[in-house]
Amino acid sequence: MLSSYESDACNPTKISIFVWQLLQNKIPTRSNLFKRGILKNPEECKCIFCGVENEDSNHLFIHCKIASDLWRDCYKWWGIRTVQDKDCKKVFEQHPNVAKMTTEKIGWECIWFTVTWTIWLARNEKIFKQKEVDRRKLLEMVQIRAFNWIKASRKDVRRLKNTSMLQTVGRY
Ligand SMILES: [Zn+2]
Repeated sequence: MLSSYESDACNPTKISIFVWQLLQNKIPTRSNLFKRGILKNPEECKCIFCGVENEDSNHLFIHCKIASDLWRDCYKWWGIRTVQDKDCKKVFEQHPNVAKMTTEKIGWECIWFTVTWTIWLARNEKIFKQKEVDRRKLLEMVQIRAFNWIKASRKDVRRLKNTSMLQTVGRY
């Protein structure tokens, strides 16, 4: 059973607004906060996960080990072989092409949204609640959120209640 926090974390409208802001480079990453003068010290821009690189969108959602591992797990889950671009926006533009069938494309788009959203929530939980992330748990959260996203977006998914979550996500 999902807590109210978790079900809110699956809200498609909220996630769509987040992705739109991400593609405009408007989400409050530490680098953006520094550019806006909210963070004063360049040392405060370091990524909360690796502590080595500065936290900007490309690093946080694509390059950081936590992100690249999660993408690798999702590609493996979907049986997709691809070489990912280094730029967040380009990865978004290219991502529908990595899935072959139209139904897969829609599902894969949902995965793209939920992967970035899951990384963002994990980042916030680590910063504000000192909660450590676990690779397996992250993939699980992507799968749960993708399922809930689809459930919230499509009423007829109820027809498929006897199929597994993975089959359902793959089908849409
Ligand atoms: Zn990092």
